[in-house]
Amino acid sequence: MGVGLVKDKAGIQSFDLPKPEITQPDHVLVRVKQVGLDGTDFNIVRYDLQDMADGQETMALGHELLGVVERVGSDVRSLASGDTVTMTVRRGCGQCQPCLHNESDMCMTGLFTERGIHKLHGALSEYVVDEEQYVVKVPPGLEDIAVLTEPLSIVEKAIEEIRIIQSRMLWTCSHQEHRYLSDDWGGCKFALVVGAGPLGLLGAALLRLADVATVVTDIVPKDHPKAQRVAQLGASYVEGHGKTAEQLMEVCTITAGNLDIVLEASGAADMAVQIIQYMTRDSIYVMTGIPREGLNVQVDAGQIVRQMVRYNQVLVGSVNSNRTHFEMALRDIPRIVSRFPGFLEGLFTRRLPLARYEEAFAAKGPGDIKTLIRVSE
Ligand SMILES: [Zn+2]
Ligand SMILES: [Zn+2]
Repeated sequence: MGVGLVKDKAGIQSFDLPKPEITQPDHVLVRVKQVGLDGTDFNIVRYDLQDMADGQETMALGHELLGVVERVGSDVRSLASGDTVTMTVRRGCGQCQPCLHNESDMCMTGLFTERGIHKLHGALSEYVVDEEQYVVKVPPGLEDIAVLTEPLSIVEKAIEEIRIIQSRMLWTCSHQEHRYLSDDWGGCKFALVVGAGPLGLLGAALLRLADVATVVTDIVPKDHPKAQRVAQLGASYVEGHGKTAEQLMEVCTITAGNLDIVLEASGAADMAVQIIQYMTRDSIYVMTGIPREGLNVQVDAGQIVRQMVRYNQVLVGSVNSNRTHFEMALRDIPRIVSRFPGFLEGLFTRRLPLARYEEAFAAKGPGDIKTLIRVSE
């Protein structure tokens, strides 16, 4: 069975999906155990973003997966049956240099495909077959939580970009060990995370792991589980509901002074654009949220261009992630677990078997953060 989209039929559907087979020597057959759902999955269903491959009538969703290797092709060396694994999402175009060098997250043609999002079946089915290069082994002991590797890899990439771009400055404070490419880079730095969904929270976790003083804002009230997860990280939560960008930034500048980093993970286009005006000197703003609807807002373009030049500001977009970011995520998961116990588990506010897919894709409850689908035991 597959769960996802059916051509010309709105809403989430189930359909027959034959068990995929190993047809290449580098193929790995994975039995799916768990799939995490995120905003992309809900948006695909809500906006009926039918994007199956030509000639296909169905597309299974699900791109955050944890599974177990059932069988491998004759050339596979790094994996064996019984290994716990996860999988990258994007498959390169095979044409551009980034894709030819395992950096399909930076694809230059746009002719890539993505499991469970864009033209390829995802993991909401019992089995997936793919090439060894896309299957990432999960170290022992992380089986219970490694389904979060994919969403964590997205913010690993965003924060890697922040560090690489900001390494243009050798000095941000008087401590040499706080340079952006040093291990202890986060000291004496302040970040604002916009959006306390799973990506915002995971981004905040990485920032806090590096000891960046962090404020997270979202529209939910202070007693919401999202705000509780923020507190668990030793970050501050600011309720943004009903606040203008100006009122919101007042709170942040009282806390910080300099706004070194802004991580946008809400996809709320209006606030995302308004906040640009409150960036400070040398600050960097990374956008990861994807608004689905058009929106016209009025901003002072003169002021934005003027300050971007005068203050050396950086505005950067970041999407997807490659295998190296999955490996970074798998190294950081144990660090998050030991420093912020219970934080990662606490992101899953609903755990449902695959058979209850309709409920999983129905509107989320008011206290929900993230849904986990149990596909098999
Ligand atoms: Zn490409
Ligand atoms: Zn310092």
